[in-house]
Amino acid sequence: MSDLTRLTAAQAADALAAGETTSVALTQAALDRIAAVEGAVHAFLHVDAAGALEQAAASDARRAAGEPLHALDGVPIAVKDVLATDGLPTTCGSKILEGWVPPYDATVVAKLKAAGLPILGKTNMDEFAMGSSTEHSAYGPTYNPWDLTRIPGGSGGGSAAAVAAFEAPLALGTDTGGSIRQPGAVTGTVGVKPTYGGVSRYGLVAMANSLDQVGPVTRTVLDAALLHDLIGGHDPLDSTSIDQPLPDLVAAAREGAAGDLSGLKVGVITELSGDGYQAGVLARFQESVDLLVKAGAEVVEVSCPNFVHALATYYLIMPCEASSNLAKFDAMRYGLRVLPEGIDNPSAEDVMRASRDAGFGDEVKRRIILGTYALSSGYYDAYYGTAQKVRTLITRDFDAAFEQVDVLVSPTAPTTAFELGEKLDDPIAMYLNDLATIPANLAGVPGISLPSGLADEDGLPAGFQILAPALADDRLYRVGAALEAALEAQWGAPLLDKAPSLDGDSA
Ligand code: GLN
Repeated sequence: MSDLTRLTAAQAADALAAGETTSVALTQAALDRIAAVEGAVHAFLHVDAAGALEQAAASDARRAAGEPLHALDGVPIAVKDVLATDGLPTTCGSKILEGWVPPYDATVVAKLKAAGLPILGKTNMDEFAMGSSTEHSAYGPTYNPWDLTRIPGGSGGGSAAAVAAFEAPLALGTDTGGSIRQPGAVTGTVGVKPTYGGVSRYGLVAMANSLDQVGPVTRTVLDAALLHDLIGGHDPLDSTSIDQPLPDLVAAAREGAAGDLSGLKVGVITELSGDGYQAGVLARFQESVDLLVKAGAEVVEVSCPNFVHALATYYLIMPCEASSNLAKFDAMRYGLRVLPEGIDNPSAEDVMRASRDAGFGDEVKRRIILGTYALSSGYYDAYYGTAQKVRTLITRDFDAAFEQVDVLVSPTAPTTAFELGEKLDDPIAMYLNDLATIPANLAGVPGISLPSGLADEDGLPAGFQILAPALADDRLYRVGAALEAALEAQWGAPLLDKAPSLDGDSA
């Protein structure tokens, strides 16, 4: 096999099952690729070569012994650095957790280990998952493999870039307002935010508990279904986990790939497909909609009038929850501890103040201040309370829409990848990138982003978003796989094959 890093996870799994390769070979190929391109991409904060190779050898031994194996046993994966990994550093992209090594695994990580996926390392991210460009990482930005002067999206730019640059066939991300889907859109990869409660959040360092979800970052829709199937399901350690079996996601992806969508009703969201979008993004979106029609789907326009308030609602609820969550970084139990200068006998509060000042970046501080203000007495009802009411209106818009259609669609992000630094000093411009992804988090419904092609003006990937009712995640895979098959038939190859090669690229 010429270049193992080019295999999708499903292809790698097939090659393993057929005895054409080994997990050690796959993992070593990924590690070699990481060594070759990380200098340019910086997708990882920590690479665990020895640990990954040890897990790979164990997978090969299990296979040789004829033990029962998970479908993805032996296929390597990268993990966003916001998920706790026993024995591996977990920084959340923040100085305040520099050097912290968790004594336990997040449930999703425990599931990866139990299924035998070698963990290549931890991926870069905006500090505490706050951002849309990965420029808010305390450890420096990640660069978009399509154009190294551009952002890879955020907050999960590391996971998306690792998968787009063929450093890993699979990665885990987390999506609070779009951090899986928006990086997916701007890197030409597939990203899924599952139904809220469908995947355990235990061991995910929370930004905003009522919005956060862990999900797959992959190169194909089928790979996302395979990974979602593995990490999903009830977890008694997460009180918001849904105690109900997942639909058959992998079967839905396989069925969708056959390309027949007759009987399916698709709604184009009026409020998310007009003003504020780059022309090339809208053009690719419209082409994809036309392909859905060709596949037999009926397409109608659906208005969700309260979606125009989604951004404002999110930027109240999220900072409120974040400010409360981040109170635990108090320099007393773990993480950075800074002794204030010029104070002889500093109180615990003095130490906390100095440590939080040194350990948190500007965006984190901005959100702590916003959240604390919005929750303060006298303002709580006006801000937090009102935002929760509008959240209910947005959920009702989804309910009404899903009475008319099976899935809703929109472009994933308003633009293709922008230049590094372009929006760094303009928080509002940065926040606007999540215009189309945030409603799903507020309502808890699942969403997928898959590449819809390259925008004419800059030749960079655009993303297509599909949203489904809560617990109907299988629809994302059926429709996503059908669209992916139709698009690839048009392109003649997966979109990522068109990405420029990076230094050290052997492909
Ligand atoms: N970009 C959004 C934010 O800054 C979403 C982040 C996320 O989903 N983690 O909050």
